[in-house]
Amino acid sequence: MSEEEQPTILITTGNTHFTDRRGSPATDWVVSALYAQSIRAAGGFGLVLGPSGGNEADSMITDALRVMDGLLITGGAFDIHPSYYHAESHPSSGPFDDSRTSLEVALLKAALKADKPILGICGGMQLLNVVQGGTLIQDLSLLTEPLEHEQRAPRSEPGHTIKVAKDTLLHSIVGVSKIGVNSTHHQVIGELGSDVVVSAKASDDVIEAIEYRNASFALGVQWHPEAMEEKVHQSIFEHFIRAAKIRA
Ligand code: MN
Repeated sequence: MSEEEQPTILITTGNTHFTDRRGSPATDWVVSALYAQSIRAAGGFGLVLGPSGGNEADSMITDALRVMDGLLITGGAFDIHPSYYHAESHPSSGPFDDSRTSLEVALLKAALKADKPILGICGGMQLLNVVQGGTLIQDLSLLTEPLEHEQRAPRSEPGHTIKVAKDTLLHSIVGVSKIGVNSTHHQVIGELGSDVVVSAKASDDVIEAIEYRNASFALGVQWHPEAMEEKVHQSIFEHFIRAAKIRA
């Protein structure tokens, strides 16, 4: 890939079901434009892919792999079904989007196998843990004295701080030990998956970033860096795009 060429980043999304103006059932893909904007600002080219029917574990994943230089697994107003980590569903869990989760799991596994750079944001970070056999705590109410992880303030503002662990990919990217992050999640990582390392925690011990030990670049962040303008947040996208460019 030449210096001018932009690596293609696949941005995942899910289904939003609704009734259209004629009263017919309809389905849209909906994803925040901020993801693609941050990818673009960092020198990448973002393409959105959502569930498209059929057996996505087969030909669609092969086609997606051919196109993508990197994979961005996004978050959304849904939870990963607890059956993915062999747990019963808690009353506060959900809604679920099984076609989305199954597509994201297949894409993630394929990207890992091909060692394509991966960035997981919010629910995307949680999926990184689950795919490696880790678990989630299904609601903040199950924690003793958690911080306010579902902030009322706009996402452009920090809700709490995190401490970044030394000798991690995240630390090499941000170059500092403390960052203010936004927080809009009601689930948190429980047991860690295999080869998953914690790269940041909040002061209540909630895991705020993870990475895979055996991948060139597989980083998950619990907050939404695409919604924050400070350089430290946008640097995550810059390093992700750089990694995608090298691997392309
Ligand atoms: Mn948080």
